[in-house]
Amino acid sequence: MVSVRPSHTHWLLLMVLIIAVGCGSTVSQDTVERSYLHPKSKTHYLFVGKSEEILNHSKIREEKLSMGAYCSTCQKWHALPPMEVVQRQPKARLCPKTKTPLSFEGPVPESVIRIEVP
Ligand SMILES: [Zn+2]
Repeated sequence: MVSVRPSHTHWLLLMVLIIAVGCGSTVSQDTVERSYLHPKSKTHYLFVGKSEEILNHSKIREEKLSMGAYCSTCQKWHALPPMEVVQRQPKARLCPKTKTPLSFEGPVPESVIRIEVP
């Protein structure tokens, strides 16, 4: 009798990967640009690297940076709630004012601080 357990585990792992990749707007292995906003100073950081590396960046955790999402109607960057909340509440991806779907990409201010993630 052949056990099905190992392949089942792999399948689960694959599902998790697909879900993780599906959150990004670009292909997983490619370099992406992600905006993060400082909760107090509103400093705009632009992380450049692979999306999963950016998500695990220590600066984001230490300074409790919020992921920035751009509203094309207000032409403004909004700070998103934590990813767990965004995944549970689809409304969190909409602009609180105009209900425009927010994008991870948009024109960044000139004062942006660019951080290359190796
Ligand atoms: Zn807006």
